[in-house]
Amino acid sequence: MSDGPPRFVLASPESDFYWRSGADGRLRIQRCGDCGRWIHPPGPVCPFCHSRRISPEPVAGTGTVATYTVNHKEWIPGFTPPYVFAFVELDEDPTVRIGTNIVGCEIDEVEIGMRVEVLFEESGEWHVPLFRPIQEGP
Ligand SMILES: [Zn+2]
Repeated sequence: MSDGPPRFVLASPESDFYWRSGADGRLRIQRCGDCGRWIHPPGPVCPFCHSRRISPEPVAGTGTVATYTVNHKEWIPGFTPPYVFAFVELDEDPTVRIGTNIVGCEIDEVEIGMRVEVLFEESGEWHVPLFRPIQEGP
């Protein structure tokens, strides 16, 4: 774990919950109360059925690395490269892809299809969702 600043806290009225959800250790994703689809990134209406009955619901916080890139340049001030930016497919719905960083392993250990779980990097009032490899066995 680095102890740098939050990576990409881009708070909006709709995504505010996402960056705070980890306060109780749970990851939450918006879900539509009408069609039941998971929605990410968060928005004001369901992109599938245009319902406004959407609200954050807890998810297991596990998923699979769908794509990733290794950044070697310091695009974000104070954010020490190299680091891994990835999209993680959520177990609840693989069409939901969460943009995040993979931590807790060597960069060359990250691969597509790797099983990962959420953890939260606390930074003031924010709990930034990051993902790390799921440890197999004891
Ligand atoms: Zn819907």
